[in-house]
Amino acid sequence: EHQKGGSHPERGSRSLTAFSAVPLAVLVGLVLRPRDLSLREIKYFTFPGELLMRMLQMLVLPLIVSSLVTGMSSLDSKASGRMGMRTVVYYMLTTIIAVFTGIAVVMLLKPGEGGRESPASSSSSIQSVQAVDAFLDLIRNMFPPNLVEACFKQYKTLYSRRMTQSNVTLPGNESEANISGVLLTSVLQTLEETVPTAGSSSGVNALGLVVFSMCFGLVIGNMKDKGRVLRDFFDCLNEAILRLVAVIIWYTPVGILFLIAGKIVEMKDLAQMGGQLGMYTLSVILGLLLHGLIVLPLIYFAVTRKNPFMFMGGLLQALMTALGTSSSSATLPITFRCLEENNMVDKRVTRFVLPVGATVNMDGTALYEAVAAIFIAQVNQVALNFGQILTISITATAASIGAAGIPQAGLVTMVIVLTSVGLPTEDISLIIAVDWFLDRLRTTANVLGDSLGAGIVEHLSRRELQTHDTEICRSVVVE
Ligand code: ASP
Repeated sequence: EHQKGGSHPERGSRSLTAFSAVPLAVLVGLVLRPRDLSLREIKYFTFPGELLMRMLQMLVLPLIVSSLVTGMSSLDSKASGRMGMRTVVYYMLTTIIAVFTGIAVVMLLKPGEGGRESPASSSSSIQSVQAVDAFLDLIRNMFPPNLVEACFKQYKTLYSRRMTQSNVTLPGNESEANISGVLLTSVLQTLEETVPTAGSSSGVNALGLVVFSMCFGLVIGNMKDKGRVLRDFFDCLNEAILRLVAVIIWYTPVGILFLIAGKIVEMKDLAQMGGQLGMYTLSVILGLLLHGLIVLPLIYFAVTRKNPFMFMGGLLQALMTALGTSSSSATLPITFRCLEENNMVDKRVTRFVLPVGATVNMDGTALYEAVAAIFIAQVNQVALNFGQILTISITATAASIGAAGIPQAGLVTMVIVLTSVGLPTEDISLIIAVDWFLDRLRTTANVLGDSLGAGIVEHLSRRELQTHDTEICRSVVVE
């Protein structure tokens, strides 16, 4: 079952179709742009994309729970403990490397040098967030008091609200500045919910579900015969969800096409990509490219001695879905399929590494947070000392762990980074105009980091996996 195989021609063509959806989307978007469609028309146009997003999100919750429960219950605690350690070390290490890559790039390119180009943003009501509160909140979120609430909070509050606000309240020909204003308002509202200041805690809770499912899986794994019914149930649920993903995967290129084309049509003024903002965008892109195409592949190669680009070829569909949806959680079902079907990664590894990764491992987000914070410091002509840069690197790592795998979550958690070094949080408005674009790119880097991690952890855990296989064979023979 866990044998490695060559690439399947049909899967290859599917990956290629997903890949070609992106340039096609850019083309369609550019052709439609001069028509000046109203927001309502754009909304109709992106409808097929919205459907993809909804279908994927529909599967995320049962997928996270069932894969973690089965993953944890199918291995003995020693093996899963070792695998867990490797995963955590890989996640931490790569996130820290990403942050430092971002810092190096933004310090070299200095996109914000020369002071403020755009007028000072209006003062906002963002309360300052103590790093320690944010950290406590992260731990708090690991233990949701209400599991049912934890299941819907994430999308209901963060995602849908932002989408409905920017879609419904804006008349046809609003300027980008106003869109940014609306976005900022919603970011602020979201902030009140995600970063509790005076103990009013509520929030995003994929993290809580991950922790609960892992513990639950471990317990029913240790329950021997008594736990069999539940183990079989979750195993079957997991299998069924992945079969549903196999159906949705056919629709992915269509969805990606409409999501990206719609965004290109909606994007208002390309002129503002010039100047400081353009340099800032370039810095983030350069950092992400360095991390995604050089650092991560090198780590993969150093550990496994296999060609990282072959591995990445199998991930194309997942990477393009990340680009289209801006959400690592929504991409999770496709990431599973790609790794298990195209790259033949052992299910016992993907079930554990991927859901945890989509929730906490965000290399792209961490890199972006560091670049953005230093950019804002440069714009305000604040010279950061070594201690402050270190603080930025630590809080950017924490902010990426705390960010949910949903569109533009990183923008929200950036407040933690900015306040930790006393930078004005309202200056988030300086970078909002390009965030939709950078969000897509950093999400792609996030998904890439999780996937290469699965390959690396599988390689490092091969001995335990084999021992486990042998034990299963033995027990079957005995039975
Ligand atoms: N959209 C990103 C993700 O889902 C999170 C972020 O906003 O950085 O991975």
